[in-house]
Amino acid sequence: MRPYDIILKKRNGKEHTKEEIEHLIEGYTKENIPDYQLSAWAMAVFFQGMTAHETAYLTTAMAESGDMIDLSKIKGFKVDKHSTGGVGDTTTLVLAPLVAAAGLPVAKMSGRGLGHTGGTIDKLESIPGFNVNLSRDEFIKAVNEKGVAVVGQTGNLTPADKKLYALRDVTATVDSIPLIASSIMSKKIAGGADGIVLDVKTGSGAFMKDAKQAQKLAQSMVDIGKKVGRVTTAVITDMNQPLGKAVGNSLEVKEAIDTLKGNGPSDLRELCLTLGSNMLLNANKANEFAEAYNLLEEILESGKALEKFKEFISAQNGNPEVVNNYDLLPEAEEIIEIKSPETGYISEINALQIGITAMEVGAGRENKEDKINHGVGIVLNKKYGDYVENDETLAYLHLDNPKQKEQAVNKILNSFTISQVKPGEKELIYNIID
Ligand code: URA
Ligand code: CA
Repeated sequence: MRPYDIILKKRNGKEHTKEEIEHLIEGYTKENIPDYQLSAWAMAVFFQGMTAHETAYLTTAMAESGDMIDLSKIKGFKVDKHSTGGVGDTTTLVLAPLVAAAGLPVAKMSGRGLGHTGGTIDKLESIPGFNVNLSRDEFIKAVNEKGVAVVGQTGNLTPADKKLYALRDVTATVDSIPLIASSIMSKKIAGGADGIVLDVKTGSGAFMKDAKQAQKLAQSMVDIGKKVGRVTTAVITDMNQPLGKAVGNSLEVKEAIDTLKGNGPSDLRELCLTLGSNMLLNANKANEFAEAYNLLEEILESGKALEKFKEFISAQNGNPEVVNNYDLLPEAEEIIEIKSPETGYISEINALQIGITAMEVGAGRENKEDKINHGVGIVLNKKYGDYVENDETLAYLHLDNPKQKEQAVNKILNSFTISQVKPGEKELIYNIID
């Protein structure tokens, strides 16, 4: 089998066999096939697409290119949640203890933030003492004993995807649905989950700006799940404005705790209940959506999810007192109020620009090596559809470096569009595919 013939076949719009895809991915991982041939192949895939079979073969080949994590020592059905990335997406911090309190084991590997999107691992590290680097055995023990653990990615997970993703990034072949779907699913499959719930975000702050494309991506990932034997559900959700109010690491930890106490923003709460319900359904812990939703609402209101959060923090060496005392979390030097220049309704909040501004003041990383500042970020005081008076606060900027003030304030201000007419209702959950 020659890579040349495999490239030619895809260029001419033909379907690959499983062996051809395995040959290509194995050869690439072992560096027997060079970057330039994989680049040409990725471009051919970009134009010709891939069938559901090919996409599933590619996913499996990439998943098996490195370590496959074995979670079989954890009792019960393991459901993982994955978000395609948004701005202020605080869900995992709420969802993990919430579904764990409902009896579903949560063994989660999460990532760090890059660009305008944050990462759960960075958020957790803003809790004093919190350890994201458990060994495989400690991780399994924590899930068996506490029902939940969240750690950073370790080991040699999906090296084929790492190489291919870096190559796609510089060859204009990132935005191909089969390549994105197989990239995301390969990591989830190597991570060892039995079931997968995907939060596919769409809108200005999302990777998929267009709702139709998001729908296609979601369907492709659900199809892969079916073919490789992992129960997969995709929830398509809005990312035209940041989720909740807080964007930034310790600010989002506070927001998560507020939500676990029943005082969080309504969109964050609704998304957590919806994703959590789908996790319970995915694991056969409920028969109907309404049943799952009511159960999770009860758990939230009873304080059991908050208790579980404290247990989870303690088990990973974090200080659970943060729940009662927010002063224990990192804080910015200065909080700047950003006031509305006019009276009207908020008709748009540019999520991408808010995410980039939060990154620029230190809440995120432009490059993988950058260090982040856990205390800084942005807290919205107004969201889409809200009425605002002239001079009323739109948002708060939590800042450490005064040199960044002027530009950041302007960018946040420009992210808001104020209109004289009340805009229509916006949906948070567009669709659920299973
Ligand atoms: N996220 C991924 O993990 N892979 C892609 O290809 C795109 C987004
Ligand atoms: Ca948030």
